Amino acid sequence: KIRQRIAGISPRPRNIVNDCRIYTCLKATTGMDLGKEGIMPLVEDAVVWSNQHGLVVALKGDEFVNPDFAVIHAPLSLTPVVYPRARFKLAQQVMPLFNRLVDAVAADEDYLEGTLRHAAQYDGFTGRLLAVLHATRSTRDEMRVAGRNVVLGIHRSDYMLDQPSGKFLQVELNTIASSFGCLSALMTRLHTYMASRITSLDPARLPANPTLEHIPDAIATAATAVGLREQGGVVVMVVQPGERNAYDQQWIQLGLWERHRLRTVRMTLGDIAASAKLDETTGTVTLANGAPVCVFYFRAGYTPVDYPTEAEWAARELIERSNAAKCPTVAYQLAGTKKVQQDLAGPGVLERFLPDSRDSGLLREFFAGLWSLDPRDLTTDPGVAAAVADAVARPEAYVLKPQREGGGNNLYGRSIVELRAALAAGGEQLSAYILMQRILPPSNRSILVRNGQWSEAETLSELGIYGTFVRHGDAVLRNQQSGHLVRTKTSSSNEGGVAAGFAVLDSPYLV
Ligand code: ADP
Ligand code: MG
Ligand code: MG
Repeated sequence: KIRQRIAGISPRPRNIVNDCRIYTCLKATTGMDLGKEGIMPLVEDAVVWSNQHGLVVALKGDEFVNPDFAVIHAPLSLTPVVYPRARFKLAQQVMPLFNRLVDAVAADEDYLEGTLRHAAQYDGFTGRLLAVLHATRSTRDEMRVAGRNVVLGIHRSDYMLDQPSGKFLQVELNTIASSFGCLSALMTRLHTYMASRITSLDPARLPANPTLEHIPDAIATAATAVGLREQGGVVVMVVQPGERNAYDQQWIQLGLWERHRLRTVRMTLGDIAASAKLDETTGTVTLANGAPVCVFYFRAGYTPVDYPTEAEWAARELIERSNAAKCPTVAYQLAGTKKVQQDLAGPGVLERFLPDSRDSGLLREFFAGLWSLDPRDLTTDPGVAAAVADAVARPEAYVLKPQREGGGNNLYGRSIVELRAALAAGGEQLSAYILMQRILPPSNRSILVRNGQWSEAETLSELGIYGTFVRHGDAVLRNQQSGHLVRTKTSSSNEGGVAAGFAVLDSPYLV
């Protein structure tokens, strides 16, 4: 069915081959000219609109107000960014294939263990996740045999245009805590409003962004399939203490209530360890008030910081043993690691999980250069040795990535040069890293608004496409593209996280 929907789409349609080069700033494309005096009133309107409509993040550091309830507009771009329509559509259309790929990879636990084993030796966090996977395998097998397992995926596949090659390349695929979906839908609404204010902009060029509906709907579908709703079943959102991006999450909670009359309970892994009880026979987890849990939706758990003691790991294992849908399972989380991304790019690996060559051919077009840094591969794979030598000679053309999520973890430039020393010294610890071709997107000029202040900057943008997936036993109940996110950062910064303070929220203006 998916293939039927994307039939006729060639991976690189002829008319868009060179659009990374013609891609240019909004001003040049639309003739928009705000003028210096025109900007400030628009910035004020954008900030007021954001506060009025919940496009906000928590305001930290003010001791006079309860920090959980004080808010400020999210970091944002005043106007949308020009984006090639054909690339955008293609990214939307392949999202169900990426969802299926994650599901297939996660189901092959021997593959996950084999691929991540060496990385896990030098990365304790990946090692712990693998240990949880291993320890819970028999429970999962029983559920699978009984056809009771409900799988819920909420993914975001991230892309950048690569100007030198004219390609459109995947940065990574997030399988845990894919954030900013809801604020991004509000960004689309804000930019639609801005387009109504700026006459040279056409609001029809801002694509629909259904995250506010799709993400709660996917969670509700999984909750219903689990079947504890009649008993007062709830969704547990697994959160970090003091989360600054809580409002993005609260939009999902509101959607779950308003669209599905499903209640959400926010808990840290520590809270779950302290109060949740697992019935070993039925697999049902109940909270202190007796409510059974239908879904555990993680907006935490992707960094070692979220597991300060053994209690948090025990909570993770309890969740994994339960009959609730988990978004993600440990297997889904591991399927989203950088190491698996790199391994899938190797010859024949993607094809094992997507046997139809039309599917795998389509996805391969998005793969950037990715290389293992496992010393075993360095000696056996001439491609790896050549890439490492080139990275030492031209570090600016590569990114070195550990098995981490959340932004701010990658290494660039000089750190890559240090590769040589590390490899010379045996380099075993580099098994926990991968080497990636640096994608070089075309630059724009944007007006960035943070804390009510604006600045104009040379910028780069990263597109994310959300995917939602629900499977009950063998029946796929949902597999869709579910909206998008554009993050824009100054050209001079390496990383692009909004939460990490590097980027602002933006939206695409299709041309
Ligand atoms: P994380 O899981 O921490 O978000 P990413 O792989 O997305 O890790 O890297 C974080 C950021 O670093 C990206 O948002 C992007 O701005 C930048 N980045 C990552 N990989 C590349 C690459 N190959 N080329 C250029 N920039 C990259
Ligand atoms: Mg990530
Ligand atoms: Mg990322």
